[in-house]
Amino acid sequence: MVRVRFAPSPTGYLHVGGARTALYNYLFARKEGGRFVLRIEDTDVQRSRREYEERLIDSLKWLGLDWDEGPYRQSERLDLYREVSRRLIEEGKAYEVYAYPEEIEKIKEELLRSGKPPHYTQEMLKVYNTPERRKEYREKGLKPAIFFKMPRRDFSFVDAVKGEITFKSGSIGDFVIMRSNGLPTYNFACVVDDSDMGITHVIRGDDHLSNTLRQLAIYEALGKEPPVFAHVSMILGPDGSKLSKRHGSTSVEEFRDRGYLPQALVNYLALLGWSHPEGKEIMDLEEMVSAFSLDRLSKNPAIFDPEKLKWMNSVYIRNTPLEELLKLARPFLERAGYRADDEKLGAILEGIRDRLKELSELPKLTWYFFETPKVSVSFTDGEKRFLERVIERLEKVEWKRDSIVKAFSGMRDFGIDPKEFFHKLRLALSGEEEGMELDKIVEILGLEEFKTRLERFI
Ligand code: GLU
Repeated sequence: MVRVRFAPSPTGYLHVGGARTALYNYLFARKEGGRFVLRIEDTDVQRSRREYEERLIDSLKWLGLDWDEGPYRQSERLDLYREVSRRLIEEGKAYEVYAYPEEIEKIKEELLRSGKPPHYTQEMLKVYNTPERRKEYREKGLKPAIFFKMPRRDFSFVDAVKGEITFKSGSIGDFVIMRSNGLPTYNFACVVDDSDMGITHVIRGDDHLSNTLRQLAIYEALGKEPPVFAHVSMILGPDGSKLSKRHGSTSVEEFRDRGYLPQALVNYLALLGWSHPEGKEIMDLEEMVSAFSLDRLSKNPAIFDPEKLKWMNSVYIRNTPLEELLKLARPFLERAGYRADDEKLGAILEGIRDRLKELSELPKLTWYFFETPKVSVSFTDGEKRFLERVIERLEKVEWKRDSIVKAFSGMRDFGIDPKEFFHKLRLALSGEEEGMELDKIVEILGLEEFKTRLERFI
């Protein structure tokens, strides 16, 4: 059975790159009828925070990417890493080192100074394992670091995205798998967990490609088959550099707060590195699941295009049933202090939804339904007389779009230039030069408000 995992480190918010990784794992698990595991990689105690973990989880839920197992936390699995590292020592595949970090650093500097690659060997490190040093460590409550004996030979694997990859012999030396604080390093904990959890496929960003060498060596030492790896190309900003805060919003939370619909974000992210076999663009999770396969993951880096995402969001906003849109929109308006009943808000949304790209734009696009605009507009005498007649007519008709439109007929008899007149009327009613269709504005404002807003001009 296919088993995949998303393994975020809780050291920050869920970034769009991480969300895409989670999505691909989710899609693959669902497509293959497999299991999707959530594992929190929190062994970097300096940088991990429980708050980040909670927010990562909230973001995944908001995106609709539900998992089948977990969250497992590496910090709760320390006994396992200790036990496996013990076993590797017993089998001669790893060894203890009683050297302080400065000493290890010094070895590296000396290697570099003498023009050698900075690769550690047991020979270099064992000189520190003196009886005095062991005693000192015991007294200080420190643990020896555990180094993994890196075999000096080529390692190859076939990546599901990138094809065959070979790491040449001697590109790295022995490396730490357990730190002297008793915590495992990422590469070690990751392999111990992936093998313990029966992970069959590892789909992740290709920034982890170089880690795969260490991981392959650890699998081999454990006598386990490595999973299938699929390294997905990084997401780049529009300028071609790695996507970062400099390029604008990059966290899932920011997009949520700006009023992106989770379905739109998921749809957009799916296409950043994967494509539908028929080139389909707008699709829901279900459709993505049924079309998903690893062989359609792209080898080339994807460019994050905020404008395209915005467009996609506008498509989703347009296609969302009004009732649902009401629920989504309300908080964005309430944050600005704007409240209205379902009927009025529904009418406003109907009028504006085609122009809406982010729900956070709502207050800016609809404020004049909630506040009286303060503008000065001067109507000509003819226009004033005409407006009086419009009001008289409107007082008699049923309040409907077509009767409202009809009430504005015959303005030429008053010597009025329609273009200029409607421009002024829009300004007087909404305080804006442009926006929703004017008859819709009038309809939503209602007769009383229409009269009140015009009174001071005529
Ligand atoms: N904790 C690692 C990260 O967040 C996981 C990498 C992996 O998927 O192996 O980058």
